[in-house]
Amino acid sequence: MPRNILLLQENAAKATITQELLAKPSDGPFAVEWIRSCAAALDRLNDHTKDDIAAVVIDLLLPQGQELETFEQILQASPHIPILVLSNPEQEQVAKQAVQRGAQDYILENRLDSYSLSKALHNMLERAVNAEALFIEKERAQVTLNSIGDAVISTDVAGKVTYLNQVAEAMAGWRSAEALGRAFGEVFRIIDSANPERTVNPMGAAMQQNKTVGLGGSCILIRRDGSESAIEDSAAPIHDRRGHVTGAVMVFHDVTKMREMSQRMSYLAHHDYLTDLPNRLLLDDRLAQAMAAARRQQQQLAVLFVDVDRFKHINDSLGHAIGDELLLSIAGRLVASVRGSDTVSRQGGDEFVILLSTIAHAEDAALSANKILTALGMPHHVKEHDLQITVSMGIGIYPDDGTDAETLVKNADIAMLNAKDNGRNNYQFFKSDMNEHALERQSLESGLRHALERREFVLHYQPKMDLETEAITGAEALIRWRQPARGIVLPEQFIPIAEQCGYIVPIGRWVLREACRQIQDWLDADLAPMPVAINVSAVELRSKDFVRGVRAILQETGLDGRYLEFELTETALMQDPKSTIAVLQALKDMGVRITLDDFGTGYSSLSYLKRFPIDALKIDKSFVHGLCTNADDANIVSAVINMGKSFRLKVIAEGVETREQFLALQAQHCGEGQGHYFQRPMASKEFAKLLGSDLSATVVA
Ligand code: C2E
Ligand code: CA
Ligand code: CA
Repeated sequence: MPRNILLLQENAAKATITQELLAKPSDGPFAVEWIRSCAAALDRLNDHTKDDIAAVVIDLLLPQGQELETFEQILQASPHIPILVLSNPEQEQVAKQAVQRGAQDYILENRLDSYSLSKALHNMLERAVNAEALFIEKERAQVTLNSIGDAVISTDVAGKVTYLNQVAEAMAGWRSAEALGRAFGEVFRIIDSANPERTVNPMGAAMQQNKTVGLGGSCILIRRDGSESAIEDSAAPIHDRRGHVTGAVMVFHDVTKMREMSQRMSYLAHHDYLTDLPNRLLLDDRLAQAMAAARRQQQQLAVLFVDVDRFKHINDSLGHAIGDELLLSIAGRLVASVRGSDTVSRQGGDEFVILLSTIAHAEDAALSANKILTALGMPHHVKEHDLQITVSMGIGIYPDDGTDAETLVKNADIAMLNAKDNGRNNYQFFKSDMNEHALERQSLESGLRHALERREFVLHYQPKMDLETEAITGAEALIRWRQPARGIVLPEQFIPIAEQCGYIVPIGRWVLREACRQIQDWLDADLAPMPVAINVSAVELRSKDFVRGVRAILQETGLDGRYLEFELTETALMQDPKSTIAVLQALKDMGVRITLDDFGTGYSSLSYLKRFPIDALKIDKSFVHGLCTNADDANIVSAVINMGKSFRLKVIAEGVETREQFLALQAQHCGEGQGHYFQRPMASKEFAKLLGSDLSATVVA
């Protein structure tokens, strides 16, 4: 403890006595610096070295009326240095006033001795040290409370605000000075966002329960200006030394940003980045909820599985940016086609799943499906393109087609695949036997993957006949799959799958190469040379390098292109007429002939017959089938024959099964025919035998 004492005493004799008294104490002398005048004392106290002075002792025996003034001046010069006043008994009143104004204590001269003086100084100095320590402690707490990022507020036991730190001031919008003494709920309005009617008072709860209480995860602080912020944390009771609750303190922080971020993250996890539609995850959720509701109310609901037809083609030919725009357009129309309470979700790629949450009958789902077919059928304006698309849809109904989300969606998917097989641009309700169909399809698909390398394909040949002379004019090569487990699988069963999986391109190449090789063999064996037709699917025709592949195979096998014919359907030609014309022209330049297959089932438009370089029309077997029994079919057959004549195209009737059909076609001067009535498709060896025995076979000109 520093013991330097500044003594202000005018009377030198008295000062000597005081100094003597201060030199005596049993625990050691005080160091005394005696100053005689008030002015000198002030000088000393205004000096920067005054910090070594532990206390001031002032003798108030000063000219009447000046005592307190002098005291005030000294006090102001050193407010932190404790002051002891010496006074004579007559002036005790003045001494008391000095104490009221800030002096620590006074001693009357008649009681002045070494003991009382040193004791008074001792107490004074000790108090000063304690006060200093307390000040530092308080200061440290203050700085700490203001520098933590959290808001701190405390109340007394009556719930009146006793303290707020700066963060709390900023968060609540109240200055400390205004808030102190007000009811907690007035300064800090906290509500539960889950139940906004309810205000929350964590301070009251902490005091009442006499324990720390956490704020619920959904607390919102309403600021003075009415704005809101999400807050989180806890309130705790404050106790006095005897353990009684004297108030409470709450520490909390603004979690608005954090809550927003977690909400955003959960949104992203549940929505598709491109279309912003709910994704599979959210759909599953909604589906589970809708199913539970439907179960309670004994109602039905429907799931529509929507897949865009030939989307890959658009993506590949126009680029992903256009593909994405198209998906956005599709998403928009889907949403516009259903009710607000329904859910349109994107499963990824070009697949969308729609939940129709309440339907009275299954037919309601069909109505929605029709609406969607119409809405999506309108051209989509994307950049400078007008894109025309179709979709295939499958419908699953709860509870008939599945009682859990996964099964219901899977069955709708299966029904969608069925719609694809059904010529696309339509919808199908799920039927239980589709499941078997789907399994079958899956097994075919996996088998197809290895069929080429395992040499499981063969070509059969079906002769085409001149209806006038009944001589063989050529053949159609028809693919067969000799599947080890199943035996012969017919193309209708696997070609559509091969088309969808992209296997058709390598398979088609194999067909072309095998046919070319076979024809060349027959030519080398001096069998009557005649053209063989092979079937080319739309996917092949559109595939890159198609023309180059044909040219390469002709070169490789050494076959002259005029022995080759391609059968193409109308739909294949119409998908992209401009580039198709170029492809056909390139084929024609190699000497290859083009036949329009299944004629009559598609557009049958005269205008494109003129635009495409076609050599022959093949009347679809369905018309030939009804030729003698159905007037419509007979009319179509006549029309096609006449159309062919006027365009100078060869006309071939396929699927001729009876003598009547043959005679009817002959009577109308249809050029050629093909069908079971003449010959079934046969292995190459048999066909060669047939050729060898058929002396009337016409020779290619
Ligand atoms: P398509 O081009 O219309 O071929 C004619 C189909 O009619 C063949 O069926 C043939 O066996 C069948 N057929 C022949 N005569 C008669 C008859 O008198 N009555 C009846 N009802 N049918 C007859 P297949 O071989 O099952 O081929 C079915 C379809 O598969 C073909 O229809 C063609 O579109 C496709 N296809 C066949 N081979 C290939 C191929 O190598 N590549 C491609 N892409 N498709 C092929
Ligand atoms: Ca054909
Ligand atoms: Ca056909």
